Amino acid sequence: MPPFDLVRDCARCAALCCVAHPFSSSEDFAFDKDADERCRHLTADDRCSVHRTLVERGMRGCALYDCHGAGQHVTARLGGDPALRSPELLEAFRVMRTLHEWMALLTTARSHRASAPLSTDIAAVLVALEAAASAPTRDLLEADLRPLRRAVDDLLRRLRPRFAKGGGLPIVDP
Ligand code: SF4
Repeated sequence: MPPFDLVRDCARCAALCCVAHPFSSSEDFAFDKDADERCRHLTADDRCSVHRTLVERGMRGCALYDCHGAGQHVTARLGGDPALRSPELLEAFRVMRTLHEWMALLTTARSHRASAPLSTDIAAVLVALEAAASAPTRDLLEADLRPLRRAVDDLLRRLRPRFAKGGGLPIVDP
């Protein structure tokens, strides 16, 4: 299995985050948007028209957002064609984004010496995450990710004391 690309590359993404994710008017977002709704700032050719002024336009949440490579991963499944951006693919992107976030967290943790005693356990969970993220879209959507979520959360709980101030490793929501 090739290594997963966990660094976002918007140039290879069909603006999936700008359509798939909902957000609410708040200090991070200037307006409400439903899931699967195109953002009003998305151009006809799927580029962000306010990319250089996100914070000034009240879209700090977009500036902080990271898909950890899930965008280009799912876009590749579309053959790069945004016209194939179906509700099913948008849901697959939301699931894939979670898997990529977990893989990025554990990959980062594994790169630190402090995590060495848990390296075997981290590797095992990463293999399971990579298998889930490699599944065909239909299988991905039907998969029960709760065991993986518990495994990641358990690992992060064991890793956290090894990092100063918790190392910024978050708890995975139940
Ligand atoms: S403001 Fe730009 S980056 Fe944020 S959702 Fe809209 S198009 Fe995407």
